[in-house]
Amino acid sequence: MARIIAVANQKGGVGKTTSAVNLAAALAAAKRRVLLVDLDPQGNATTASGVNKHEARPNGCAVLLEEAAVADAVVTTDAHYDLLPGNGDLTAAELKLMDTLAREHRLKEQLASVANRYDTILVDCPPTLNLLTLNALTAADGVLIPVQCEFFALEGLSSLLETVKAVRQRLNPKLEIEGLLRTMYDVRNNLGNEVSAQLTAHFGDKVLRSIIPRNIRLAEAPSHGQPIHLYDRSSRGAIAYIGLAGEIIRRERGLPPIPVPVEASDAAEPEDAAEPPARSVQGMALKAPAANHRD
Ligand code: ATP
Ligand code: MG
Repeated sequence: MARIIAVANQKGGVGKTTSAVNLAAALAAAKRRVLLVDLDPQGNATTASGVNKHEARPNGCAVLLEEAAVADAVVTTDAHYDLLPGNGDLTAAELKLMDTLAREHRLKEQLASVANRYDTILVDCPPTLNLLTLNALTAADGVLIPVQCEFFALEGLSSLLETVKAVRQRLNPKLEIEGLLRTMYDVRNNLGNEVSAQLTAHFGDKVLRSIIPRNIRLAEAPSHGQPIHLYDRSSRGAIAYIGLAGEIIRRERGLPPIPVPVEASDAAEPEDAAEPPARSVQGMALKAPAANHRD
């Protein structure tokens, strides 16, 4: 029975798609049966997986509208995970779903038909808390929240956690926070260190040990339609996502995480090491979301 993980943060450009695609590839490389669902009308996870988002039909839109079965819409990628492609049609699907009964449950119902074919189903969400994201959170066992270690990173996190709490109360009581994933981390950037420390202070164990460094190879890979371990398997980005896959698998098995010293794993590469202007993180404090981060 597949464990479903939604990759969500309504803040744009924080590394949701990069994390969804490369975690899918890393889990598949570890012989897990993985389905990646592209639920973002931008279709970036589809493109980054090497699939033409304009030609992929049937796709996630048809699945949400019950015009196609998931099994008929998935395609197998070169990185050995299956992909349910997404594109701009998802916006139309969302609009049509607005008028239907149990509209938040449609993805969950559709994924049930393939749940025993996969170990993990990852859902890449759009950068908004819309009906598509609500469908992902309603279907999910856990939500993985990428957080970019830069200024304003924590902004909006409270409203996301409020949404998770509301979904848990009304739509999906089993929804857990899989973890907060620090992305685009640059160890030479003091601001990143401060944001990281704030995250740990607020969320404790909910902050995953794995940290994704800022790495140019991760940014290049999507334009080649390849996950990082096909594009450059020895890059820091590839190694970090393999570590994340290991951490997720250990969590599933109830094993404690292996501590990863930041200094050892996350030094930025020279081409990524430009220092941003020093800015204060004061005023970024979150409303204490103690009730939100249940395990
Ligand atoms: P959106 O909210 O638009 O869906 P997103 O949260 O999915 O965005 P991504 O598309 O994964 O974010 O990443 C935003 C940009 O940052 C992309 O150009 C991506 O290639 C780049 N990027 C993501 N992670 C890293 C990283 N660790 N190092 C360098 N570049 C990265
Ligand atoms: Mg994205």
